[in-house]
Amino acid sequence: MEESRNTPALILNRQNYKENDTLVTIYSKNFGKLNLVARGTKKMKSKLAAHLEPLVLSDLMILKGRGRDYIGAAVLRKSYLNIREDLNRVYYVGKAINLFNRLVKEEHPDERLFLLITRWLDILDEKENNLSKEDGELLFAFFAFKLLAELGYQPELYHCLSCGKEVKAGKNSFSFKNGGIIEETCLDKKEYLELRYNGGILAVSDNCIKLLRFITDNKFASAEKLRVDQKSMKELSNFVNNFINFIV
Ligand SMILES: [Zn+2]
Repeated sequence: MEESRNTPALILNRQNYKENDTLVTIYSKNFGKLNLVARGTKKMKSKLAAHLEPLVLSDLMILKGRGRDYIGAAVLRKSYLNIREDLNRVYYVGKAINLFNRLVKEEHPDERLFLLITRWLDILDEKENNLSKEDGELLFAFFAFKLLAELGYQPELYHCLSCGKEVKAGKNSFSFKNGGIIEETCLDKKEYLELRYNGGILAVSDNCIKLLRFITDNKFASAEKLRVDQKSMKELSNFVNNFINFIV
């Protein structure tokens, strides 16, 4: 009997690999991120291939290969059909999965990461109406921020990184390098001179700080309750993209 292991897994990506095979990148509940060979899946009629499409949740049986491990069997659990039918959802989910795949390293099992991404996908899949661009931006910001926090980039949003005092309304900045807010008076200090000139510092409005705190302190489902004006949404999106670019 071949050595096998079983796990539910989200398919993140699939690419061609050798003659008839594909290489499938998954995030599994039990073993974290893995790259596995799916044999014979380049053939049109392969039944296995349909259960290994990107953005599909499947139960996998993984077998030990001589080189890479390979997928012995896959049973489809969920294919997120509502996401697939809405272009905005496809766009934001693609962006989220791409970020997840870039940031998460192989062979570090973390069930919380599995729950994070599958819960977020459930929320997008269960939305009744088509996703607006604003809601897409907000949900993506939620996802990105939670993912970064889970990976150890939990930002300090309540106290000044430099002096430790509570952050007050007014002119504040965020240091991507140090992962938190620095007040205006502290930013003048010599130690931040280099940061100020090399980028990695972004001015953040009081509204943006409030939004970031809300996202950090609440679950995905709370995004529904938020009403964010266009200007604040733009600032939040810009913040999240800057944060991501700094880390990736
Ligand atoms: Zn300070």
